[in-house]
Amino acid sequence: MSGAFGRGVAPVEVGPDTLVLGVETSCDETAAALVLGGTDVVSSVVSSQIDLHAAFGGVVPEVASRAHLESLNPVVERALADAGVGPERVDAVACTVGPGLIGALLVGVSAAKALSLAWEVPFIGVNHLEAHLYSSFLDHGDVGFPLVVLLVSGGHTMLIEMRGHGDYRLLGRTIDDAAGEAFDKVARFLDLGYPGGPAIDAAAELGDPEYVAFPRAMMNDGLDMSFSGLKTAVTNYVRRNPDVASADVAASFRAAVVDVLVAKTRRAAAEVDAAGIVLGGGVAANALLRTEMTAAGAADGRVVLLPSREMCTDNAAMIAWAALERHHQNTSDSDDFEFAPRPRWPLDGKAAAPPGRGVRA
Ligand code: ADP
Ligand code: MG
Repeated sequence: MSGAFGRGVAPVEVGPDTLVLGVETSCDETAAALVLGGTDVVSSVVSSQIDLHAAFGGVVPEVASRAHLESLNPVVERALADAGVGPERVDAVACTVGPGLIGALLVGVSAAKALSLAWEVPFIGVNHLEAHLYSSFLDHGDVGFPLVVLLVSGGHTMLIEMRGHGDYRLLGRTIDDAAGEAFDKVARFLDLGYPGGPAIDAAAELGDPEYVAFPRAMMNDGLDMSFSGLKTAVTNYVRRNPDVASADVAASFRAAVVDVLVAKTRRAAAEVDAAGIVLGGGVAANALLRTEMTAAGAADGRVVLLPSREMCTDNAAMIAWAALERHHQNTSDSDDFEFAPRPRWPLDGKAAAPPGRGVRA
């Protein structure tokens, strides 16, 4: 590795011993992690707010901001303690600056900037989506370009062509609900609990995936996707057939989502002749998606990179890691105190987005 963090005061040369603190507060996880330049995750602490939001069946932004405020300092202290180091060992502070909930982002970004000022080390703003994408490389290393990335989470569902570090092109995305959102809504409807993804995944293992032939929307229609009709089809079916077993509905729903995700990803990979396929985001933890995508890759002769399940959902190791990868790119304008949180920050418009469009932290 070569290059340096920080523009202006005290840039830090990046090497295998560079220790980066990652901070993540974009949604409902308060997370801190320490990652070494040589790619080792030294510590990773995630404090989930799932219990706080479960009663509402989804994330309540105001509740999320307050919980981040309470949890962040203890989570950072715990990450340092787990790593057995003091603040003086930290070379840079990386933090998610977007996209995400503005109130939640403000808590993390303000804290990360304060730490970086107090410790006199560079601050690095990280795009949350880019970090999800890099979480696969944490486990697998580089496999060459171009890659097709399927990013599937509670807030996003998109197919991206990664032509190199920092070089992204949006190929397709959901035109309505994100896949994770569909899992959460269907699980809430079936009374399976929150978050819905893991609950449906577990229930589906006991059901028949062919019990109901739910629609696979836009299957032969480019690379965009749609999941809101599927959600409606599930609720309509259950209302008409109240005695149906939840496991069969869960299995049939999961099969429909996975069919669409795998078919679209396969088509995207063929179109750009991808060297490999990368999964990222919470839904990438889905058991059926993992096996089906791996089988499709094997059939098409493409490598499929799956992040470990802990790295699929929000965490701060991926934030620190994305920051460490960034010195390869040298395209960023975000390692600067002036860089404000960005509730919206599309990956492919990353370098082009005007600085300061967000809210000052
Ligand atoms: P976001 O940051 O957009 O909220 P995350 O990357 O934290 O999303 O992922 C959370 C989402 O992933 C939730 O919608 C959750 O239901 C979904 N999810 C988690 N595990 C699974 C799984 N095993 N199967 C399907 N969806 C899952
Ligand atoms: Mg996420």
